[in-house]
Amino acid sequence: MTQMIINGERVNAADGRTLDVVSPTDGQVFTTIPRGQSADIDNAVASARAALSGDWGRKTALDRGRLLVKLGEKVLEHHEELAQIESRDTGKPLSTSRADIVALARYFEFYGGGADKVHGQTIPYQTDYSVQLIREPLGVTAHIIPWNYPAQMFGRSVAPALAMGNACVVKPAEDACLSVVRVAELALEVGFPAGALNVVTGLGEEAGAALSRHSGINFITFTGSNEVGVLIQKAAAENAVKCVLELGGKSAHVVFDDANLNVAVPAIVKGIVYNTGQTCTAGSRLLVQRSVYDKVMQQLAQAFSSTRAGTPEMDLTCGPVVNKAQFQRVKHYVEKGLSEGLTIIAEGTIADGVPEGGYFVKPTLFSAPDHSSCLFQDEIFGPVLVAVPFDTEEEAIALANATDYGLLGAVWTENGGRQQRVARGIQAGQVYINGFGAGGGIELPFGGVKKSGHGREKGFIALEEVSTTKTIIHYYGKTN
Ligand code: NAP
Ligand code: MG
Repeated sequence: MTQMIINGERVNAADGRTLDVVSPTDGQVFTTIPRGQSADIDNAVASARAALSGDWGRKTALDRGRLLVKLGEKVLEHHEELAQIESRDTGKPLSTSRADIVALARYFEFYGGGADKVHGQTIPYQTDYSVQLIREPLGVTAHIIPWNYPAQMFGRSVAPALAMGNACVVKPAEDACLSVVRVAELALEVGFPAGALNVVTGLGEEAGAALSRHSGINFITFTGSNEVGVLIQKAAAENAVKCVLELGGKSAHVVFDDANLNVAVPAIVKGIVYNTGQTCTAGSRLLVQRSVYDKVMQQLAQAFSSTRAGTPEMDLTCGPVVNKAQFQRVKHYVEKGLSEGLTIIAEGTIADGVPEGGYFVKPTLFSAPDHSSCLFQDEIFGPVLVAVPFDTEEEAIALANATDYGLLGAVWTENGGRQQRVARGIQAGQVYINGFGAGGGIELPFGGVKKSGHGREKGFIALEEVSTTKTIIHYYGKTN
């Protein structure tokens, strides 16, 4: 049985209750986790607060950075173990989990190296004044993370916060939290003081809601659905604390008639089937210039037909989706597309021999006559790509922006001027030119505009999000 990490200890829920953990690969319960409640959140917040005025709060930036780097090394030492845990919990192909664990380590390395490089400023002011602008931690930071990339999201969220000297309370998703708990255990092994990093497992409506409303937190960061994002922002408003929201997307590829399809087609397929489409940055809309529409669809159809879903051990294109609700959600949208008159151009297959009861879905490519279907608006969070033709550059930009979301975008063209115009025209936190990646590397600032949320994670800029400034104004003139 898995336990939580509060105040440097492995603990059960205060009331002893647990939740079953179901494998997406066969739909069977394989372990349990504590069902944390507000009492557990109270303990975690209190231990984080105590850490700030204790050992953790007294550490220099250099020492915090060293601890983070050590944790990165520890994660790499436990690479295979963590990848197996992640695949068991989420159903990801093992090679995907292995890549995720490398990325997790990279978060600790990057922000560990950054910890002692956040310098303040001096500001020229009046005669006989010295003004310093220093950066300080926010205090107790709350992190509510989703199930699609548990290990990576954990690193993305807590590594910058720890680097800046905050003490963290994390509520991972009930559907996938095992790798998060294990890494928090490793953090204790490398010497993080008690309370610096707490993990409370449980349900969103219970542990998550209690954390987001807690008067002892100074910041909250959330990745997940828009519905819950709204609740988080309201809770943050009640406590007048800053929040960072990452609420998903409906990102578009814009393919012009001069695009290099040898590069574009595999990137477009990977951009929607990777992680079974359960990626906030998935390229889930495809806008193609009419003159090459049929050609692009033909090539994509071939690529889609060769995609296969299977178990983590089979290590195919994708695994199952994470749970029954997601399984039904994907099925619902495929049926919806058909009922709205969209055409299925190609489908992948589900491998022979997958267990009964697993949540496997086929990657699906739809073609639409125009952009009016709800499949162009709603975040499906499955391997479903929907394509539509366009005629002009202006129309392409307008269509790319014709959703509530604004997380990522990609433009495929060899025309240099068009590359810039379209990249600048797309409303999104990140835009790729002749490439596509799930939010890019750890180094690249990432986040949304419009209903994809606000605030930035990744890159050096994240260190600013999880800290605040203090202006020290010092008069040093003679007073007599
Ligand atoms: P969700 O409910 O928003 O879950 C995200 C996180 O918030 C989880 O840790 C969840 O805990 C927690 N949570 C849920 N209700 C809460 C509340 N009232 N207060 C505080 N925390 C709460 O997302 P979901 O239901 O798992 O997935 C639904 C849809 O959200 C997906 O189909 C997808 O469209 C979107 N989504 C987006 C992302 C992304 O990366 N942007 C990630 C996941 C999902 P529990 O899960 O333990 O309840
Ligand atoms: Mg949920």
